[in-house]
Amino acid sequence: MSLLVFGHKSPDTDSVCSAISLAYLKNKLGMEAKAYALEEPRKEAQFVLNYFNVAKPEILKAGELKGKDVVLVDHNEIAQTADEIGEANLVEIIDHHKIGGLSTDLPISLRIMPVGCTCTIVYSLFKENNVEIPYEIAGLLISAILSDTLIFKSPTTTKLDKEAVYALAKIAKVDYEKYGMEMFKAGTSLEGFSIDEIVNMDFKEFDMSGNRVGIGQVMTLDIDAVLSKKDEFLAYINGTEFDMLVLAITDIINEGSYLIYKGEDKIISDAFSVGACQGVFAQGIVSRKKQLVPKLTDAVKNI
Ligand code: MN
Ligand code: MN
Repeated sequence: MSLLVFGHKSPDTDSVCSAISLAYLKNKLGMEAKAYALEEPRKEAQFVLNYFNVAKPEILKAGELKGKDVVLVDHNEIAQTADEIGEANLVEIIDHHKIGGLSTDLPISLRIMPVGCTCTIVYSLFKENNVEIPYEIAGLLISAILSDTLIFKSPTTTKLDKEAVYALAKIAKVDYEKYGMEMFKAGTSLEGFSIDEIVNMDFKEFDMSGNRVGIGQVMTLDIDAVLSKKDEFLAYINGTEFDMLVLAITDIINEGSYLIYKGEDKIISDAFSVGACQGVFAQGIVSRKKQLVPKLTDAVKNI
């Protein structure tokens, strides 16, 4: 049976590129597989697809999952996957996030590694299976790794991510630092986006000690455009139904995040060792997975 491969909702570069690359690899290994996206890919992913001239994956439609074999990439939490996942047969997960509560009736293949990007794992799978990586797949893989690791600035970066980038840069024919900056600039321009679009651009929901906590993260090279609208962001955030909501505006050059939040000041100051105020800069905080989530989870627990 044909495999459906897809990443998380609000598809980022890793979710899109790992799905396409893994589907390509499965096809090469004699399986029938097709990459999908759960929603319209984000701007950076669109830039990458255009740059390497790869067709955008089809958006998965309601009802399409029923009875199908699916492979999840770049996520494993129920809240982040297809709404109808319960109607499908989950056969495999390839991911680099913490395990988040999916359970299955049958044994499945799992490849979860603490690396910076799902595409680093997909790169390893090409190597393990001795499948040659063509130009455009190398382009997708390197883009995702540069994106997830912030060109190696993220603390999630590992030796495996770097080795993959060095090798893929040759096949994709890019200067990885120069290309990475070009990709971030194209992907992080906030021109034309509304306040709620910016908050929800890269948004994930978590349960912290029974509280409904939302964390949105925006990486941009244009910080001033966001901070000049701080009050409008705050009005929107305070109007949501979340117990707590943190919008992290991450400056990848200065390696930190400006925080606009709904919630107690004390949680913010405890979590990030800063004097809490709207728009406060948390130096060194760039990763939601490795920093924002665990620090907030601890601070909420201890309040
Ligand atoms: Mn992702
Ligand atoms: Mn990822």
